[in-house]
Amino acid sequence: MTRSAHVIVVGGGIGGLAAALGLLRAGQRVTLLEQVASLGEVGAGLSITPNAGKALDFLGLGDVLGRIGNTPPAGQIRHFQTGATLVNLPQDQSREKYGKPLYHVHRADLHAALAAAVAALDAGCLHTGCEVRHVDSRADGVRVTLADGTAIDADWLVGADGIHSRVRAELMGPDRPNFTGYVAWRGLIPGELVEPALLDPPLCMTVGPRRMLMRYPLRRGALVNFVAIARRTAWMEEGWSVRSERHELLDEFADFESHTLRLLALTPVDRLFKWGLFDRDPLPGWTRGRATLLGDAAHAMPPFTGQGAVMALEDAAILGRAAAATPDPDELMQRYEAARLPRVTAALVMSRARSELYFADDPLQQVRALGAGMAELRTLYDYDAATVPV
Ligand code: FAD
Repeated sequence: MTRSAHVIVVGGGIGGLAAALGLLRAGQRVTLLEQVASLGEVGAGLSITPNAGKALDFLGLGDVLGRIGNTPPAGQIRHFQTGATLVNLPQDQSREKYGKPLYHVHRADLHAALAAAVAALDAGCLHTGCEVRHVDSRADGVRVTLADGTAIDADWLVGADGIHSRVRAELMGPDRPNFTGYVAWRGLIPGELVEPALLDPPLCMTVGPRRMLMRYPLRRGALVNFVAIARRTAWMEEGWSVRSERHELLDEFADFESHTLRLLALTPVDRLFKWGLFDRDPLPGWTRGRATLLGDAAHAMPPFTGQGAVMALEDAAILGRAAAATPDPDELMQRYEAARLPRVTAALVMSRARSELYFADDPLQQVRALGAGMAELRTLYDYDAATVPV
């Protein structure tokens, strides 16, 4: 009998946990190394489109989205100053058209479900408080060195350590992230603080010159999630996601109509973060020796198509299928990369192309761009990670 391969997964975000799940289900021995001391409630709302639902089905979590997610209600796009309805957005038809609904979920709920599924297969494989500093990828195996000097050997490795990926830098050399020219505020407001008039309709996008705000309910309305994006010439902060003062957000959107401002003013200060939006240029390949990349580490993209976490879930399902198809790490990484690289590069390019159009000066131009963008985005929904060739 052949010994199952030992794989190190670096990073315990959505991508790393999903990869660990796919690999455990394929019979690999997994060691997941996450730098934070404990996996906790981090993040805000994510759109989980039907293609991600199919990847989660493959990973054995098909029922989770129905439990933790909201299917988006009918909504509107509104004018920033008058509040006038520019477009009525009908109830999402994804279930009928693509076989899976689109869900809005709290990142923490999806993350917790993935962590529980991994722990159910191998509770001992999750190691927190383990910051990977060095990766030595050879032809026949890998060695990682942690911040405390501990060395761990394995047959192969997956770097799922996010947009700041240490593994990517170790494998490919340092490259500069690109500031997209946009800043996003993400906030969560307890539903009980909000008077119903401010949530009519529950899903609403408000467009104004060079700015956009999207809000939708999470956890069956217990939370109101919003993302507010504005153009900026530079990002001066230390981190890419930092606490924001409420007045900074309110100043940026000061010319928006009063319902929007009243809602934003309710954001608890500990639930308001701002993000400099960065991406990285697509790589021609993700694999060096016995190590490869997944999720934002491989293909960080701006969030204008809402596909970052979705693509990480697809990656994980395909990686699991490649591992089930062959015991040879070199062959499985090659199959994984060949199946995924064209798809995620197309999504990255699509997301970049939308940014200029979505943030035009004229709201009517923005609305036309959003309509075209949503239609283009839906071309990604048909992909089924369980059945595409690997
Ligand atoms: P991460 O979630 O960044 O996880 C990386 C993990 O690696 C972290 O836990 C980190 O602590 C760990 N780590 C880092 N370095 C090390 C190290 N050296 N050693 C050990 N561990 C390490 N995506 C969607 O699909 N839908 C959306 O609607 C959506 N909206 C978004 C809105 C905004 C404003 C932004 C900024 C992003 C949005 N995204 C969305 C993108 C999505 O959040 C990311 O693409 C996704 O979370 C990436 O997952 P990941 O697992 O690759 O990386």
